[in-house]
Amino acid sequence: MSYLIDSHSHLDFEDFDKDRDSVIQRAFDSGLKAIITIGTNLESSKKSIALAEKYENIFATVSLHPIDVDKEEFIGLTFLDLAHHPKVVAIGETGLDYYHSSDKEKQKQVFQKLVQIAIEVEKPIIIHSRDADEDILFLLKEMALPKSRGVIHCFGRDYEMAKKFLDLGFLISYTGNITYGSERQKSITEVPLEKIIVETDCPFLAPVPFRGQRNEPSCVKYVAEKIAEIKKIDFSAVAEQTTKNCIKLFNLPII
Ligand SMILES: [Zn+2]
Repeated sequence: MSYLIDSHSHLDFEDFDKDRDSVIQRAFDSGLKAIITIGTNLESSKKSIALAEKYENIFATVSLHPIDVDKEEFIGLTFLDLAHHPKVVAIGETGLDYYHSSDKEKQKQVFQKLVQIAIEVEKPIIIHSRDADEDILFLLKEMALPKSRGVIHCFGRDYEMAKKFLDLGFLISYTGNITYGSERQKSITEVPLEKIIVETDCPFLAPVPFRGQRNEPSCVKYVAEKIAEIKKIDFSAVAEQTTKNCIKLFNLPII
């Protein structure tokens, strides 16, 4: 069996309140080696840590998501404290989202503060960018990045843009929307497999054949299958290498 890691899920979301444990069980039964569950605000970050404490191969991240910066005040010390937790493997998702209407200046401030936290705790960052690549690259170039760098999640732009993140030392993460059509597949042929990780971003972005339904970590295999198809390589090669990349980036204590 080929093992995969879902590098970006939102298992704390209420979409999973009724059957969270069976969703997790299904994921591990389907051959997932680990799941990283992503915090999006203070409460969600705490819930993600609680899940990581409950399951050996679930790991957490902490953050205040750019679309949430208007909804709660960012308290740096609290997040710094959470970021030190041994099962917190990254800071994020953080970045900029110009599609949603939350205050752009506030988004930039919170992004910069979270990168500072990542530097302090020496953990990678997970970047969320929506209609904001240039501003994110500008800010990243201004900051002393964490040594472990990070990943740009849910990537769907062309190779020219991918290259700008690769040049800064970031990995590229693809999710289920690459199965929707060629538009978001543009960079996949050229981005080296050694620089790719896979994710579901569940409960969102369920891949074909489940498009429109609730997504869950076990569906990450459809993302890996699509990458294998586009790169014309074996599924097992994609599974093996992306898992290796993920373990290395997030320093996961699994073999
Ligand atoms: Zn997400």
